[in-house]
Amino acid sequence: MNYAEVAVNSPRLYRGQTFCYAVPPGLNLNAGQVVWAPFGSRVIQGIVLLLSDEPSVAETKEIAGVVADCPLLSPIQIELGRWISEHYFAPLFDALALMLPPGFERRTVTYFQLTGPDLIRNQVDLPLTPEQKQILHIIMKKKKANLPELEKAIGKRKARLITDQLLERQLISETLELEKAKIKPKTLPNIRLITDKEEIEAAKARLTKSRAYKQAELLEFLTGQTQPISVSQLKERLSCSLSTVKALESRHLVSLERLRVRRDPLAHLSFTSSPPPILTSSQQVAWESIQDVLVGKTRQSSKPTVFLLFGVTGSGKTEIYLRALAQVIAAGKRGIYLIPEIALTQQTVERFANRFPGRVAVLHSGLSPGEQLDEWQWIMEGNCGVVIGPRSALFAPLPNLGLIVIDEEHEWTYKQEDKIPRYHARDAAIKLAQLSNAVVILGSATPDIGSFHKALQGEYQLVELKERITPRGYSPLPEVSIVDLREELKAGHTSLFSRSLLAAMKDTLAQGEQIILFLNRRGTATFVRCRNCGFIFRCPRCSIAFTYHSVEKRLICHRCRYSIPVPQSCPQCFQRNLRFLGIGTQRIAEEMGHFFPEARLLRWDKDMITRKYAHEELLKDFRDHKADVLIGTQMISKGLNLPQVTLAGIISADTGLNFPDFRSSERTFQLLCQVAGRAGRGVKAGRVIIQTYSPDNYAVKAAARHDYLGFYRKEIDYRRQYDYPPFSQLVRLVYSHTDEGLCRRGAERMHRLILDEKAREDIVDFNVIGPVPAFAFRARGRYRWQLFLRGSDLIRILSRLTLPRGWTIDVDPVGMV
Ligand code: ADP
Ligand code: ZN
Repeated sequence: MNYAEVAVNSPRLYRGQTFCYAVPPGLNLNAGQVVWAPFGSRVIQGIVLLLSDEPSVAETKEIAGVVADCPLLSPIQIELGRWISEHYFAPLFDALALMLPPGFERRTVTYFQLTGPDLIRNQVDLPLTPEQKQILHIIMKKKKANLPELEKAIGKRKARLITDQLLERQLISETLELEKAKIKPKTLPNIRLITDKEEIEAAKARLTKSRAYKQAELLEFLTGQTQPISVSQLKERLSCSLSTVKALESRHLVSLERLRVRRDPLAHLSFTSSPPPILTSSQQVAWESIQDVLVGKTRQSSKPTVFLLFGVTGSGKTEIYLRALAQVIAAGKRGIYLIPEIALTQQTVERFANRFPGRVAVLHSGLSPGEQLDEWQWIMEGNCGVVIGPRSALFAPLPNLGLIVIDEEHEWTYKQEDKIPRYHARDAAIKLAQLSNAVVILGSATPDIGSFHKALQGEYQLVELKERITPRGYSPLPEVSIVDLREELKAGHTSLFSRSLLAAMKDTLAQGEQIILFLNRRGTATFVRCRNCGFIFRCPRCSIAFTYHSVEKRLICHRCRYSIPVPQSCPQCFQRNLRFLGIGTQRIAEEMGHFFPEARLLRWDKDMITRKYAHEELLKDFRDHKADVLIGTQMISKGLNLPQVTLAGIISADTGLNFPDFRSSERTFQLLCQVAGRAGRGVKAGRVIIQTYSPDNYAVKAAARHDYLGFYRKEIDYRRQYDYPPFSQLVRLVYSHTDEGLCRRGAERMHRLILDEKAREDIVDFNVIGPVPAFAFRARGRYRWQLFLRGSDLIRILSRLTLPRGWTIDVDPVGMV
């Protein structure tokens, strides 16, 4: 194989783009290997995808060397990377880099050395310029100098120029070396016997005779060991000093070598293994349909089997995941278990680690870089049975994958939004399962509308768990009441807490039970509402809520760009009592202090969580009842089990509802259901209070009844009527620029370009929404405008577009704001 197809690490390549390189003679390459490839004037990293006998282009450059000796990506991972690159319009290297070991990406540094040191030293009269002499002198003094060092001495441009001259005259030679590794494997000194039995016996006798008892004792001890033992372990088990070890080493009886050790992120946990519970009857039914597929009794053809496990909060879904993983591990395969937030890892990890002691790996950004690297290595070697982590854990180098579980599959954190590639872990997981012939289980109490739609269409297999399991046995979901905040205002009650929430809190605190207060902070300051009658300012053309833009002092529609100046009074009741500002957890805490000065509060939000394990500490404190009230944002809606909570209060259900986004109802419904699901999971029943200005909204009403199906039917009708996903595909194009006017004009130009292309190519199956200012209109000193493509097959139009610098593309975005 003389040629290699390589994905190189250079920005601004189009999706799927590769380059062909010649393989230098004698270099044995494999697909999945990372190499150094000349690219323009530089040498960069690249991943070998394919080897062939024929070049795909007429002229090829030669690969400069290998970065690592063995392949780092499996053929399946290469295929997955290709799919991600194609589907999400991302450069191939970026897609593949998701699967490289942590801290892998490194640059090269060019080093120079003298070709013949003696030659130069002896021939002072070589015709050299002073600058050439200076450079040679530096190289001679350092034996090996790198380019940055020379640049520092004589300037960037000159350093390159002079070294080129010297290279030309073959006075120096150049080599490429990797910059220093940021993460290194951890090693410990280990001792091992290096002679045979007879020799040892003889040595022991000699040592005893010469009264070197300690050394004899150590030899005796080591004879009993089957494996090398670390020096620290040895010191613990045998009171023996390093000098004794060294003495044996100098007699050539033992060797000291550094062996790699795993920095185990679970080392601090002590496992309490408990036998799996007997399944309840509904769990049994659910489990049997999954088990049949896992053991291969029923298996569809080429498509992967995807289960949607739809079960209310606390219905025992996790127990099903554990069974499924146990089954897969017993068959010699492995599983991935994805969770939405690292904040939740600890509780979950403990449960899994107890079930599969010594077989669980975790991967998340809260680990030190060293721990991440060691976990990766440990997984690659096939040691673990289950990898647990957020979306990125999908790319762990797990051999022989049998099952992928995605818990809380509706969560938006499964979509990578902030960097390339903007993939969705659910869709990537299904692709990976297809490639590995594995099974996928998606679990949720409030499935994503698109997932549920697929399940009803028969694309996914629907499995249901209808009852909630608590220490009281099966028990109903908590009772939910809706409080109409307009009525509160009419009665002159202007506190953040309605009268019934106040009464319920008083009651709960008096009983010594716990409360959680939930605040949906996302977008709290975005829309304008009349405090008197609840009227919300909406765009007269699109009827979605106006967004308040403080810079322009206008209300702007994020769909059609219609805007009005900020109003002074309400057009419905004519009161000048408009409200713009959001409420924060801080405000709630102050208000709590006012009404219940003795209650002990905990605030859980981004401001409070800074240190590595702060999430866990905070949750543990709350679970240990060191506080009575937990005030939090989105974080507390995510699958936490807090048995002593008997009251959940939702301060305002509306904030999310008025987002200019077709998913705002779905999002609100999910949040309300999840928060409601937190209450009453212990011995005592719970209750939930939802405060809202929109008590008649279908998302709020359905959430109060725990009625997913009712909500789904309304929502899917709306999606069908307005041709939103799952009935169409969406792609979001965002343009950012430091100049506001140029930003808008750039977006408008792209809009025209797309329409021109549409007309020229006669592509009819899509339309364009926008351009409109993005919700985060100004971020980090840049303005942002966006437009959406909506249609049934957007690949055709998208592959005709070249996006200039400043544009980003997000295929299947989870939000529109
Ligand atoms: P979910 O994942 O649906 O929220 P969990 O699996 O966490 O539900 O189960 C909720 C509670 O019920 C947990 O405390 C769990 O230990 C318990 N549980 C689950 N299955 C059983 C069972 N078969 N027997 C007894 N307790 C169970
Ligand atoms: Zn009004």
